[in-house]
Amino acid sequence: MNRPITGELQALDRAHHLHPFTDFKALGEEGSRIVTHAEGVYIHDSEGNRILDGMAGLWCVNLGYGREELVEAATAQLRELPYYNNFFKTTHPPAVRLAEKLCQLAPEHVNRVFFTGSGSEANDTVLRMVRRYWALKGRPDKHIVIARENAYHGSTVAGMSLGGMAPMHGQGGPCVPGIEHVRQPYWFGEGRDQSPEAFGRACAQAIEDKILTLGEDNVAAFIAEPVQGAGGAIIPPESYWPAVKAVLAKYDILLVIDEVICGFGRLGEWFGSQHYGLEPDLMPIAKGLSSGYLPIGGVLVGDRVATTLIDDGGEFFHGFTYSGHPACAAVALKNLELMEAENIVERVRDDLGPYLASRWSELAEHPIVGEARSLGLVGALELVADQASGARFDKSLGAGSLCRDLCFANGLVMRSVGDTMIISPPLVITREQIDELVRLARQALDETARRLKNRTFE
Ligand code: PMP
Repeated sequence: MNRPITGELQALDRAHHLHPFTDFKALGEEGSRIVTHAEGVYIHDSEGNRILDGMAGLWCVNLGYGREELVEAATAQLRELPYYNNFFKTTHPPAVRLAEKLCQLAPEHVNRVFFTGSGSEANDTVLRMVRRYWALKGRPDKHIVIARENAYHGSTVAGMSLGGMAPMHGQGGPCVPGIEHVRQPYWFGEGRDQSPEAFGRACAQAIEDKILTLGEDNVAAFIAEPVQGAGGAIIPPESYWPAVKAVLAKYDILLVIDEVICGFGRLGEWFGSQHYGLEPDLMPIAKGLSSGYLPIGGVLVGDRVATTLIDDGGEFFHGFTYSGHPACAAVALKNLELMEAENIVERVRDDLGPYLASRWSELAEHPIVGEARSLGLVGALELVADQASGARFDKSLGAGSLCRDLCFANGLVMRSVGDTMIISPPLVITREQIDELVRLARQALDETARRLKNRTFE
């Protein structure tokens, strides 16, 4: 921690660094916060502030910061074999061991994994695999993937095309053809004129309607997250997934469950699909796989697709230089071993998840909160101008970003998606730290309400 570095680094940052998902000019004027080090669930910035990381970085630092075992796993592997690839009939021990471990943790019908460097690359791989699968089955017309509005599946061209975020589609298009979107099961935002159960069924019906419009012989797969993360921590009504499952089975359409956020304990199961009793054909993974210590992703491939690709496919012309990178794989393997040894998944399911739910739901009483929801260790607050009707604040007020900035200034990272506030803390958070998180969130809500009332936003 070295105070004088702030100005110097901010100037260099402004001069040379284009940040992801950022208005470059606006950030240049404001200056970046410089995060210098971290331990446990806390990050530290160059101004000496300690901040509770309620987002686990970008939903990924599941084991928390400063885990020496992960540092050692990386160091040992970098010494032994820093790089070799998995192309051309070669492999190395960490990739094989990690593949074995993942398939041991995955549902029974999943016995293969294809490694990538990120979640976006995993979803690019998904798109190619599902189309290849149907082509090999002699049904090349079955090529359209149905995804959801407001979904996030990555930032590569295929990832953003599968995603349903209109602002992303509006830049650098056209999108990859053969991808269609249906409504999301976002009850608070779009369904409050019905019961959650009826709304969940209506959203599943929208998938069936889309299949009928496109023709079932043209639809390859449906892709979705169990709980939508970046879209706003959207937990679907209980009726949604059983109804979706039935629709996909009726028309023989592959199910792709994006586990990039929900995988590795976030919802209190190894995979989010297990919480909802789903049997996905493909599961893109990343983030929590290595707790974010090194970049690695992949696609878990169910037997149905794997068997066809293996037996009938010949060479699959796809792969990345860093597919199964040895150091990343070694860190991911150690990460999974630590999660098992420390019973992280069970703790989230049986203790921390229910505890967060009880504390988080108290925030629903706050005058500017219309709904407080959580599942496992992901949660959201809907900011509203009027609790009774659920009416939103005027968009021009920027209530969500105001609340996020106040959180940050007050020692908590909470993310805003429009006027939805989100948390997704490291899975090693303690009950006391959950208390601290809720206390800091409440303070930020109080201050947000005060400033919105007095119209003082600076
Ligand atoms: N899928 C989901 C559900 C995600 O949340 C993300 C990243 N936020 C991705 C895919 C893309 O992952 P990456 O940023 O590693 O490419």
